[in-house]
Amino acid sequence: MKADIVTIFPDFFRGPLDHGITRRAQEMGLARIEVHDLRAYTHDKHRTVDDRPFGGGEGMVLKPEPIFLCLEPLELATREQRLAGTAKESVILLSAQGERFTQGVASELAALDRIVLICGRYEGVDERVAEFLADRELSIGDYVLSGGELAAAVIIEAVTRLLPGALGNEASAKQESFTAPNTGDVARNAGEVEEKAGADSTCGSGGLLDYPHYTRPAEFRGMAVPEVLVNGNHQEIRRWRREQALKKTLRNRPDLLEDAELNKADEKVLAGIKEHGRK
Ligand code: SAH
Repeated sequence: MKADIVTIFPDFFRGPLDHGITRRAQEMGLARIEVHDLRAYTHDKHRTVDDRPFGGGEGMVLKPEPIFLCLEPLELATREQRLAGTAKESVILLSAQGERFTQGVASELAALDRIVLICGRYEGVDERVAEFLADRELSIGDYVLSGGELAAAVIIEAVTRLLPGALGNEASAKQESFTAPNTGDVARNAGEVEEKAGADSTCGSGGLLDYPHYTRPAEFRGMAVPEVLVNGNHQEIRRWRREQALKKTLRNRPDLLEDAELNKADEKVLAGIKEHGRK
C-alpha cells in the first residue's frame, strides 16, 4: 500500500512512523509512506497556507489551492473512479466532523492500494476540499484535536498492522478487540487465515473486546495470575477467556454486544453475570 500524508508539519511524522510494526511494514515493502509539505505548494514569499474565514469569525482556515496543487502530481485516479470503487484509492480528509474511524474502516482501507490523508489545522480546511477533492472525511473520535496529524498517524498505524504479513502472527489480528463478526474483512486482510474469529472458535473477538493477557512472573508483589491460565487445560482456558471478554465488554462497552456474534453459551454467561452483578 502507498500512503501519502499532506501536512504543514512534515517533521511531526518522524516519530510515529519510525517505530514498531509501522516501521517494519515499510522496511518489508508492504507500506510506502510519503509525507508532503503543504508549504511547498504555495507561491508567495511567506508560503501562506491559511487565510481568514469568509463571513467573519474566529481563527484561520487552510486554503484550498495548495491542497489541490499538492495532490495533482500524485496522479491519482479520478474522484469518480475512486468513489465508484473502480480505483482502489481513497482521499481522506481528517476532520472532527467526519464519519467515525473504526476497526471496520481500518479493514476497508487496508484493502486499498493507496490512501491519501489530508491533515487540517487551525479552524479547519476550506470546505471545497471536502466537497470536491476528498472522497470521505474521517474523525478518530468525538473530541477536537489541534490538527489532523495525530489522527493521520492513528489511521496509518491501525491500517498498516492489517496489511498481510505485517504482524508476525496473523492469527492475532482476528482475535483482537472490535474485530467484526462474520465480515471476512480480517480474514481477507490477514492473508491465509482459514478459521474465522467468532463465538464458536476459540475465544476470538467476534465483535467483543479482547480477553485479559498475563505473562511471567506468575506472582508479582502478591498479585497472582488467574489459576486457570497456569494449569494447562486448554479447553478451560478458552472458556475462561471467552467469559472474561464477555465480562469486560459488558462492563466497558455494552453497546458492542448488540452486534457481537454470540452463541448459546455466551448468552448464558452474560445472563449469569447480569444476575450476580457485574464484577
Ligand atoms: N473547527 C473544527 C475543528 C478544527 S481542529 C470543528 O469544530 O470541527 C483542526 C484540524 O484538526 C481539523 O481540520 C482536522 O484536520 C483535525 N482534527 C481535529 N479533531 C479531529 C478528530 N477528532 N479526528 C480527526 N481529525 C481531527
